[in-house]
Amino acid sequence: MIYFDHSATTQVAPEVLDAMLPFLKDQYGNPSSIYALASRSRGAVEDARRELASYIGADPREVIFTGCGSESDNHAIKGTAWALRDKGRHIITSAVEHHAVLDACHALERDGYEVTVIPVDQDCMVDAAQVAAAIRNDTILVSIMHANNEVGSVQPVAEIGKICKERGVVFHTDAVQSLGKVPVNVNDLNVDLLTVSGHKVHAPKGVGALYMRRGTKLRKLIDGGGQELNRRAGTENVAGIVGFGEAVKLLKEHGEAEVAHTRRLRDRIIEGVLGTVPHTVLTGHPEKRLPNLASFCIHYIEGEGILLSLDMWGICASSGSACTSGSLDPSHVLLAMGFSHAVAHGSLRLSLGRGNTDEEVDTLLQVLPTMVERLRAMSPLWSDAVKRGEV
Ligand code: PLP
Repeated sequence: MIYFDHSATTQVAPEVLDAMLPFLKDQYGNPSSIYALASRSRGAVEDARRELASYIGADPREVIFTGCGSESDNHAIKGTAWALRDKGRHIITSAVEHHAVLDACHALERDGYEVTVIPVDQDCMVDAAQVAAAIRNDTILVSIMHANNEVGSVQPVAEIGKICKERGVVFHTDAVQSLGKVPVNVNDLNVDLLTVSGHKVHAPKGVGALYMRRGTKLRKLIDGGGQELNRRAGTENVAGIVGFGEAVKLLKEHGEAEVAHTRRLRDRIIEGVLGTVPHTVLTGHPEKRLPNLASFCIHYIEGEGILLSLDMWGICASSGSACTSGSLDPSHVLLAMGFSHAVAHGSLRLSLGRGNTDEEVDTLLQVLPTMVERLRAMSPLWSDAVKRGEV
């Protein structure tokens, strides 16, 4: 099997599994209890918190663990909106956010908040000046993602954060895809709130974290016990949190080498695909993009057809994001970038990880051109294009 879908999720690293196992076996104490067994769980959770906090330039008391990236996004957005409702009810976000952000904003709209959605250009980039122009006296929150999950464009988050700071508006960024791929430092990025998720960096699924700058007013999303610095109730997922901490430790040790490795493979894929598959465009910014992500629109073809054909070769890839694939709607990201429905349907995302090899890239580049040719031979989109003299 060739796994080119690391933006959807990653395999749990062996070191991560080893670190977790004791907490699924003998070390099962509840971190809130007071005996020695429990304090070992407490200690492990706090070690993981320190590990993650130091990696993103935060104080450990500014980091809470959550159940996933989606929860962190919801907490940041709804928590801020609820806490600041007397100050204002206007929120700014972008058209290409993950649904965890967009749908949280839509939910608030139904409760009387107003949301301004900033468009993107054809490279999926948000213009910081447009964000600045959209800020009003009643704006309480700006949420713009760090890196896009479908096309990999990296947004000018530091610049947007600086504007928000000057205008006194809380700034949240979703850094789920950028963690470990491009530097994520909460001070350099000028953010008040930042979302990350474990399963994108070789930790298990079901653990995320939210950075909250000291002094940022936020209501709780989950009420109950006093866990997670009294900001997120619920007995901690100790093993998951320990795994996340270990995964971050691995990023500190090997992250740079991994980025160089995936960037080289990514560039081979981009060059190879554009060079051998006619009528194909790279999606996302050509330079300001994640080092592990190659994404394309292959004209006159259905993305799903490519995925199924790749699967027959044992190659895992995706078309649009994992959460929306399965639905027939074309990606909201590609539509926001100005692609037509027909072209957006032909999207292909290949996202790389530490385990991928040159041989795997060779295989992809060998099989893809013929695969596309065969699919086009059966595609009405292609025969129509031939009739129109387009191809
Ligand atoms: N934000 C982005 C940009 C993502 O890519 C994802 C997952 O694909 C999420 C949020 C959601 O993270 P989780 O799967 O941990 O809920």
